[in-house]
Amino acid sequence: MRVIERLKSTKKPLFSFEILPPLKGKSIQSIYDGIDPLMEFDPAFVNVTYHREEFIYKKREKGYLEKIAIKKRPGTVGICAAIMNKYNIEAIPHLICGGFSKEETENALIDLNFLGIDNVLALRGDPIKTEPHFVPEKGGNRYAVDLVKQIVELNEGNYMDENIEKANPTNFSIGVAGYPEKHFESPNMKADVKRLKDKIDAGADYIVTQLFYDNQKFFSFVDACREAGIKAPIVPGIKPIESLRHITFLPKFFNIDLPSDLTDELEKCSSNDEVKVVGTEWAIQQTKELIEYGVPCLHFYTMGKSPTVSNIAKAIF
Ligand code: FAD
Repeated sequence: MRVIERLKSTKKPLFSFEILPPLKGKSIQSIYDGIDPLMEFDPAFVNVTYHREEFIYKKREKGYLEKIAIKKRPGTVGICAAIMNKYNIEAIPHLICGGFSKEETENALIDLNFLGIDNVLALRGDPIKTEPHFVPEKGGNRYAVDLVKQIVELNEGNYMDENIEKANPTNFSIGVAGYPEKHFESPNMKADVKRLKDKIDAGADYIVTQLFYDNQKFFSFVDACREAGIKAPIVPGIKPIESLRHITFLPKFFNIDLPSDLTDELEKCSSNDEVKVVGTEWAIQQTKELIEYGVPCLHFYTMGKSPTVSNIAKAIF
């Protein structure tokens, strides 16, 4: 079922989560091991992230350095098909602009369509490590809004090759990313929300947010979206803090703040086990308040580790 229909028809908040493809060399079983403990909470859908290539330099003879592109976590589409086949739940591949020409994007969408995958999260992707800012692929999409437009074209049966007659229209429900604390490149929140509205106006159906720890920021973001005329469902993204490393990594990597009430408690912790207790309790309180507020779905970033999300789900569902 298309995610937008699930979001619009549900009477109680849905449960969903995001996973990462395993590192190259690992088996699909590591994915199942992460999903199995969460199946009892009846997930409405599972998102699978997309990871583009990274560039490394290998030393060759006579000191030459060879630039090599490697994908450490391939398999997004295959994992989605495997999940749908094994669990009979919707799997949503993330599709990014970076590294894809429009032709390659169209072909990827055709693969998804043939596999019976009717949902996609359309993203721009981050700049690769060796680039100071995002550089689109030659002949590729620059912004997520351009990717949304391309998917909508295919939903209308318009393929890039105008000579194709009686083309099969696809039926993708399109999700896009939103940022309760603003996207890091945006000059201000108003400008960012305007760009988000462009994605919805272009045909995206719903929004999934970046992780956040202060519900007030989410509520203000939803208010700003509604004031800007965005009517689409907004799904909050929740990531429980699970390790001492997260305390510095999460703000840096995701450009978000941790509220001082939370960091005060985290500073008292001397081990990851203690952090997990604080992080789980914070996420439970956060989700309870979000349910009361009336969110259509709670979307958890598991990063492949299910026990903490399972404990939170037990407390709230
Ligand atoms: P866009 O919507 O294109 O926005 C990017 C920036 O450009 C913003 O600052 C926006 O305000 C600005 N902008 C947009 N349109 C215009 C315009 N026309 N002119 C000027 N400025 C404009 N990354 C991955 O690589 N793989 C994943 O699987 C992945 N999953 C994600 C899931 C979620 C829920 C979220 C929130 C993020 C995810 N990301 C993923 C990260 C995402 O790719 C980055 O945050 C990226 O930097 C922005 O992506 P976007 O789709 O929001 O981009």
